[in-house]
Amino acid sequence: MPFRHVPSLIPAWPVPVPTCEACGERFIDDATGKALDEALESALARKQHELLLGAIASLCTERTQRDWEKRLAISPGYLSRLKAGKESSVALTTCLVLLAQSPATAWDRVGQVWAPPASAPARAPAPVFVMRHLTLVTASAVEAPVTGMLHELEPRLASTATTEAA
Ligand SMILES: [Zn+2]
Repeated sequence: MPFRHVPSLIPAWPVPVPTCEACGERFIDDATGKALDEALESALARKQHELLLGAIASLCTERTQRDWEKRLAISPGYLSRLKAGKESSVALTTCLVLLAQSPATAWDRVGQVWAPPASAPARAPAPVFVMRHLTLVTASAVEAPVTGMLHELEPRLASTATTEAA
């Protein structure tokens, strides 16, 4: 059956399909279906390999293969294996083709995707602050009788909070 992302793909070799001469209806039995699938898969692999070769060549006008492998967190030598014919996913092939349309821009943009947001808060997030206080209270409460202990702790907690919040 045709691939959803390339419905117009032509089988890599002709597959005879029994067809009614009167109305044109095609009769695809199991054997014919299997033969068609094989011819389509082969065509897809060929098409994908062509796309990958073009994309990698274009990317390498800007940076080395190893640079791109690092940037995209792809294992070392993976792009070479794709060039040699290793099977790839539709998603990876599509991404590489898109990046290869403008390699210089793509290099910067890929970096931006994983960079922290420009508006990242400078202060530690609140939950860390709260956790430290919980630890302090628990430890002290276990060490000494509870009576009076919490009264003693309260001012210390308050002053700690003021210092850390400043
Ligand atoms: Zn017919």
